[in-house]
Parts: sequence; structure tokens; C-alpha cells
Amino acid sequence: MNAAADPGAGRVLDADVGVVGAGPAGLAAAGSLARAGLSVVVLDEGQRAGGQIFRQPSPRVAGCGAAPPSHRRGRGLLAAFAQSGARLCSGVTVWDARPGRLWFEQAAESWLVRCERVLLAPGAYDRSIPFPGWTLPGVVTAGALQIMGRAGVVPGKRALVAGSGPLLLPTVAALLGAGVQVVAALEASPRSSAWRALPGLLGHGGRRAEAFWYLRKLLGARVRLRSGWTLFGCEGEDRVQRALIGKVDAEGRPRRDTARSIEVDVVGAGFGLVPSIELGLLLGCRSRCDPRRGGHCLDVDGEQRTSVPTVFAAGEVCGIGGAEVAIAEGELAAAAIVKDLRGVPVPPALAVAAARERRAADRLLGCFPPLPGLCDLATADTIVCRCEDVRLEQTRAAAALHGRSLRAIKVGCRAGMGPCQGRICGPSLQALANGLPGQPADLPVVQVPVKPVRVQTVLDAPRG
Ligand SMILES: Cc1cc2nc3c(=O)[nH]c(=O)nc-3n(C[C@H](O)[C@H](O)[C@H](O)COP(=O)(O)OP(=O)(O)OC[C@H]3O[C@@H](n4cnc5c(N)ncnc54)[C@H](O)[C@@H]3O)c2cc1C
Repeated sequence: MNAAADPGAGRVLDADVGVVGAGPAGLAAAGSLARAGLSVVVLDEGQRAGGQIFRQPSPRVAGCGAAPPSHRRGRGLLAAFAQSGARLCSGVTVWDARPGRLWFEQAAESWLVRCERVLLAPGAYDRSIPFPGWTLPGVVTAGALQIMGRAGVVPGKRALVAGSGPLLLPTVAALLGAGVQVVAALEASPRSSAWRALPGLLGHGGRRAEAFWYLRKLLGARVRLRSGWTLFGCEGEDRVQRALIGKVDAEGRPRRDTARSIEVDVVGAGFGLVPSIELGLLLGCRSRCDPRRGGHCLDVDGEQRTSVPTVFAAGEVCGIGGAEVAIAEGELAAAAIVKDLRGVPVPPALAVAAARERRAADRLLGCFPPLPGLCDLATADTIVCRCEDVRLEQTRAAAALHGRSLRAIKVGCRAGMGPCQGRICGPSLQALANGLPGQPADLPVVQVPVKPVRVQTVLDAPRG
């Protein structure tokens, strides 16, 4: 692997494979690739490898038994990766990509990876659904609150966790580990969803151990997970002081007659995850919409190859599925790349294992279908796009005037045009603006840079 200065601009790294993401998918793939003798560069925004699930707790909370059983597997994966010889660039942001090229920013410097194959393993991000008061200080996504909990820096003492999907349990556990009182944990899906998911959970060794570990944590702290309840809104002067909670019907529509107020000083709200497909779209990869897997995800063949022959993808970017899927798909993608570059056939067992994990995850997620009625939480004056301060009524006016497409709504009112580039409001923007919850949204509109970087980084970008 060579690093060189590009005349008058940034720096260039040459490798056989460039990997975006050091989560379970990226780590599993990079370790296998390096052990097969290929040079590998792994790029990740986090300061430490591990991705969202295997991010090790801070030493401040590690002593409290805050790590679930899956972290043992994570430690094994991290150790194998560390010994593999793959090169990790952490704390970096990949902001542009072309087949065989990844541009990234590291410590205010502009860098380029030139590689034979690209593997995308950028994971997913929280799905936000706007509700009154969600822009108050102290209200964050469930994933963000979990990260804060693991780092021991939660901005409050009395927390409410609300939303839907399996991420709520780790969030509650992380808060408890950080010494925060969790006054309520609300799952919007009906209790019947959990019952339907039970056979899938009990039949999968890893998920069973994980679920029991979290449930023990909740029981030990006397936190009750209420199904069919959600957060209607947050109130407070300079920051959140109260949350309005209540029951929802089977489609997630709020039952206002059940509303009641509780005192809290920090709120985590997350309604599932959305695959992070922006880099894949820039690369020209085909996607498909699968609401069960979080919406638009990258389309791959039986060996994790995207529609662009030199680009592979693994993990949540191919659809939400969890760490076991991510590891299996990462190993399969690595074997397919080794086949391309070294002519070694893919062991059939890897494809079988990845397909089995994906099927099990699809079955589980199928028990928690999206709840279109949650779009009724926002009122006309609720801010929908928090980067550009656009309210729901403005998005509706834009849709009426300019058209129902995501692009028309964005151009019409600037929603989704701020620093997050629609990652926060985008997944629900179209449904809210058109008043058509449950309709599949258009593909996100992506442009360079896909994540915020300095203007100088773009100007200094080494030529491909
Ligand atoms: C906030 C959050 C918390 C989660 N916590 C849990 C949990 O506790 N338990 C659980 O079972 N599941 C959790 N999940 C789900 C979890 O993401 C998956 O189960 C699993 O980690 C997926 O692995 P992955 O490798 O596909 O992606 P991830 O683990 O998400 O790894 C992707 C990595 O890519 C990096 N990345 C993305 N885009 C860029 C870019 N442009 N430039 C540089 N780096 C980039 C990210 O920093 C991240 O480290 C969480 C998800 C989120 C979003």
C-alpha cells in the first residue's frame, strides 16, 4: 500500500480494496481480505472501530457491566481485524465516491483512496419522525442517546425513550449503565408484534441471549416497556421539561384522549433505522425499496456485488438486519472480491450462511411493520426540517405548488437542503408533505459532498 502527495493538492492512498465503514460488516470483510493477502484501507467516521453495535463503552461506564453478550463477539472481530494487517483510518469522512475511488477528509486534509474494488459497509442511521417539541434541547434520537449513554455523557437525569424497533432496548440499557433513571420506555408497535417475533428470537442463539440480557437489565431497574404507546410531544422553556405520552392505535395513530404528561429532562426518540445508501447512489448502484428493511437499500446479487461490477455492499446498507447479517455478508463480500482479484472460488457455505441470517432477520423485522399513523404526530406548525427550520404547513404548500416528488418539495421549501442533506427529515418528508403516510418515498436526492466537510477539502481533492 502506498501513500503519496498529489502535486498541489491532497494525498493519495493506493490499495486493492477500499472499505467504507468499520462496523461488523466492514471489519469482517476487511479482516478476511487482508488475511487473503490483499491490501485494504478501511475508512470510518468513528474514533474507534466497531461501528454502532460494537463501539466499546467508555472506561467511565465499562465497569458497570454495560456491555451486552454480543460485545464478546465484537471483541473477537476487533482483535482479528487488528492482527490482519488491514489499515484503519478512523475519524475520517468519506464525502465522494466513484468506482475505484473514495475521497475522504482526515484532520482537515483531503485524501483519495485508489483501489481495484470498493466495499460499502456504511450502516444505517436513526429514522426520525417529527413531533411537536422535537427540536427542543435535550430531545435527541434514540441512537444518539445510546451513544451518549455508552460514553457516559447523557445530558439529563430523568430519561424517556420512545419509538419503535429493537434499538430501544440497547438505548435503555446504555442509559441505565450511565446511571440515568429511565422513567418510561415506549414501543409504538402493538404487543402482538412482540409475540409474533418471539419464535424468531428464541430460535436464534445470538439474538436470544441478547434479548434476555436486555430484558434482565430492564427488569432489574424496574423499567417497564409499554407496547402501543408513544411520545405525542415535548414541552419546556429553554429545554425539554415535560413529555406528552399516550396510546396509539394498531397503525400508530395517536389516541389523543389517552394523553398524559410526565416530567423528564432528556428524551430519545427513534422509529427504526434507515440504510445509509447515499454513497452507493453516487457510485451509480441500483437500489430497491423494501419497507421491512428500512426503505431504500442497495440491491446486491448472491455474492454481495452491486449493479456496478467493481462495487460490493454488505450489512445495513443492503437493508436493516442486525450485526449477525452484517458479519455474514461482510465475509461473503470479501470472498467474492478475493475471487475477482485472485481467482479463488467463493466457499458455498458463506453464501448459505449469509442468506440464512438475512432470512431470519427479515422474518423478525416483518413482525414490526412501519406504522404510517405516526405521521399524525406532527401538527401544521411542527418544524419538519430542523436544519432549515421548515414547518409542516410549508412543506404542504410546496407540494401543492411544485409537485409531490421529493425533489419538488425540497426545491419548493428548502426542506432537506441543510447540513444533514435530508438524512433526518428526508425519510418522512414526502409522506408528511403529501399527507400520504405509508406511500414509498422517492430515492434520496444525493449530491457531493454527501456529508459536511470543509470547502478547502473539496478544493484540495486529489484528481482521480
Ligand atoms: C446509532 C445506532 C446504534 C445502534 N446500536 C445497536 C445496538 O446496540 N445493538 C444492535 O444490535 N444494533 C444496533 N444498531 C444497529 C446496528 O447498526 C447493526 O446491527 C450493525 O452494527 C450493522 O453493522 P454494519 O457494519 O452494517 O454498520 P455499522 O455498525 O453502522 O457501521 C457502519 C460504519 O460506517 C461508518 N460510516 C458511515 N458513513 C460513513 C462515511 N461517509 N465516512 C466514513 N465512515 C462512515 C459509520 O461511522 C459506522 O461506524 C445501531 C444502529 C445505530 C444507527
